[in-house]
Amino acid sequence: MKFNTKVIHAGVEPDPSTGAIMTPIFQTSTYVQNAPGDHKGYEYARTQNPTRHVLQQNLAALENGNFGICFSSGLAATDGIIKMFSEGDHIIANNDLYGGTYRAFTKVYARFGMEFTFADLSDASQLEPLIKSSTKLIWVETPTNPMLRIVDIAAICAIAKKHNILVCVDNTFASPYLQNPLDHGADIVIHSATKYLGGHSDVIHGAVIVKEQSLADQLYFIQNATGAVPGPQDCFLVLRGIKTLHLRVQRSCENAAVIAHWLKAHPKVDKVYWPGFEDHANHAVAKKQMRMFGAMVSFTLKGDDFEEAKRILSSTHLFSLAESLGGVESLIGHPASMTHASIPKEERLKNGLVDSLIRLSVGVEDVEDLVADLQKALG
Ligand SMILES: *Cc1c(COP(=O)(O)O)cnc(C)c1O
Repeated sequence: MKFNTKVIHAGVEPDPSTGAIMTPIFQTSTYVQNAPGDHKGYEYARTQNPTRHVLQQNLAALENGNFGICFSSGLAATDGIIKMFSEGDHIIANNDLYGGTYRAFTKVYARFGMEFTFADLSDASQLEPLIKSSTKLIWVETPTNPMLRIVDIAAICAIAKKHNILVCVDNTFASPYLQNPLDHGADIVIHSATKYLGGHSDVIHGAVIVKEQSLADQLYFIQNATGAVPGPQDCFLVLRGIKTLHLRVQRSCENAAVIAHWLKAHPKVDKVYWPGFEDHANHAVAKKQMRMFGAMVSFTLKGDDFEEAKRILSSTHLFSLAESLGGVESLIGHPASMTHASIPKEERLKNGLVDSLIRLSVGVEDVEDLVADLQKALG
């Protein structure tokens, strides 16, 4: 099956008891057994749920993996992955990271004796000198957030393999429509399904996809043993969102390309970050590993004018001022005070995350209306 067929059909069968074409929401906590241990494969709904099962099969297919493991949020999925590791283990992550991931690494898992090192992995040569005998995992987010650098997944995996270290890629920003990290050698893919997979800003959900049985066994064990499972209605919403993933992401990317070029020509705009520009530092890598260049665009204002940025952020009408991304509607955000407020200012500035940086999640509206909205707000 090719991708656009998989989003609709992979793992999905009509309900055997009724023929319902849509996967039912199995809102139940337990399952009746005929005799002790004689059951239909379902015992208790933290351990197994049929709605979740279908979604897990579908997600595994979309990422060209063999196993999907769903969690109650993207960060719960991150938590599930980190719980495969132990005190004393060292994890290297890229520095331009989702704020909540950075916060969990530095403020929670560090207290349990795990060690984290952050580096600009869009320059793969920075990785090898950081590797120690205790290094167990490389954590990559690409495109990065919010600077939209691109990490060369294959290059990072080649180095990690040499040292027998696992690679996990947070594929939230690209979605499986644009990029499939397992194909480039990654061991684990994670998604905040809250974003493009759900696609309609109506659910919080997370997913992990792997190829290897041994990793899947550990993750299913943690999913059940520590219990951060999603409810069946949330699984249904993600399954429904995925059915139009290809259409939504494609249109969003087309719109983002128009907006990125328009912003670049605007006299008030200083820098525009979007990997589709030929002069973007990682454009060649983006072209190699992504199908299109994504629907996230960040830009800064001339003179790094924070007051003017605040004015713009509260002047758009179609672009709603909100955290999150990946929905059908366009959003505008201010990373320094919103999504990345949990990262210390010195760390942010080292990354180029200045106070006038504005981040757009471009939706699927008519692009002429989106440009007109920005035009009015920028003045
Ligand atoms: C939103 C997000 C997360 C966290 O996901 P939640 O569903 O909000 O818990 C992780 N990584 C990235 C890149 C995100 O955008």
